[in-house]
Amino acid sequence: MADLQKLATMLQELDDQMAACMKCGMCQGVCPVFAETMAEADVTRGKIALLENLAHELVVDAEGVKDKLNKCLLCGSCAANCPSGVRIMDIFLKARCIVNGYLGLSPAKKAILRGMLTRPKLFNALLDTAGKFQGLVTSKADEIVGTSCSRLMSPIIGERHFKPLAKEPLHAAVPSLDTAVGASGLKIAFYPGCAVDKFFPQVGHAAFKIFRHHGVGVFMPEGQACCGLPSLASGDMESFLRLVELNVKLFGQMPFDYLVTPCGSCTAAFKEVWPKFAAEMPSAIRHAAMTLADKAIDINAFIVDKLGVEVPTEAPKGGTPLTYHDPCHLDKSLHVTAQPRALLRSNPNYEFREMSEHNRCCGCGGSFNLYHYDVSKKIGERKRENIVASGAKVVATGCPACMLQISDMLSQAGDGIAVKHAIEIYAETLG
Ligand code: SF4
Ligand code: SF4
Repeated sequence: MADLQKLATMLQELDDQMAACMKCGMCQGVCPVFAETMAEADVTRGKIALLENLAHELVVDAEGVKDKLNKCLLCGSCAANCPSGVRIMDIFLKARCIVNGYLGLSPAKKAILRGMLTRPKLFNALLDTAGKFQGLVTSKADEIVGTSCSRLMSPIIGERHFKPLAKEPLHAAVPSLDTAVGASGLKIAFYPGCAVDKFFPQVGHAAFKIFRHHGVGVFMPEGQACCGLPSLASGDMESFLRLVELNVKLFGQMPFDYLVTPCGSCTAAFKEVWPKFAAEMPSAIRHAAMTLADKAIDINAFIVDKLGVEVPTEAPKGGTPLTYHDPCHLDKSLHVTAQPRALLRSNPNYEFREMSEHNRCCGCGGSFNLYHYDVSKKIGERKRENIVASGAKVVATGCPACMLQISDMLSQAGDGIAVKHAIEIYAETLG
């Protein structure tokens, strides 16, 4: 009980932020998880009520509150639509760290977050090896989407159609870069992110083509570490701070104008999440971390807003039908919505068609997909229905996590619709 009082006291630091919630319930209408489960504990209002009760010892089941807290995509739909401006993502991430810090991580999470993610060389070596042998236990599922499925009954993979690990991940094809500034006059640091590196290296190659074409100098140091978002989502402050330190040291080696990433979640992690946890960072790295956060920019926004690429105002007609899914982190956190659409319009070989509910979450949510696949799949199926109804033959997006989820949905249904990153469509126009 004494320990529970300690947990309660720690949670009380969120009291002021939680008190801003007037329990209006407006978050219910926009929460993709609530839409499937109709459970009050699955929506923000219910989660805040549970946290308040735990903070004031009105409930004592910390494990139960942790499970409810983790049943969330961290999509930000509730925060974007809250009339009281409750800082929901701050509350959720900080509460996860407090509650998980109190209860401790599972051995599996500890091994992944602290044993692997914080050791980029080991992480790469393990996945490179897994990539070489994955064919023994998987078979091809869909040629158009490029997915595989498990040959064996696997409780982890289940019915999923997944993107196999790339035969040649980006870090193997291009271990590091340091190219001169060209016509653009800009030097950037490039952060591909784990999913582009390991599943979608073609997105990294498309980025290099774009940088070369526009005369952008590129600094890409070897040994980049995860952005830390999976650590915070799992409530592990220790591995988060280690990852911040690794990236700060790596990117502190060179001056550059922007930190450019093709992953909406990584960009949001640097730009939005790191500053929320600045007070937790050791003073020796805090300033450098905030400088990195300040320089972080999504690659679509960099190409359109900073390179000033001219794009047609009218969408071309008559090409392959194409639609776009707004990743939650790009749309609701960073408000990057016009730039990827502008890049898609620049390719005359495609005809852009807006889908219904284009900014509704795809249901991935990182580890949410692992622990709550039944709900994740239902949310993903709604996204798939909207993609199919648009008549598109290609769906583009701006986050590799969404690409993984949408690929699974389209592949399982056999829709024959390809999944691409928006910059791949733009890079095709550059010859
Ligand atoms: S919309 Fe905002 S104020 Fe209303 S219940 Fe949800 S979190 Fe609370
Ligand atoms: S972040 Fe998304 S999934 Fe989580 S409570 Fe808010 S709307 Fe629901």
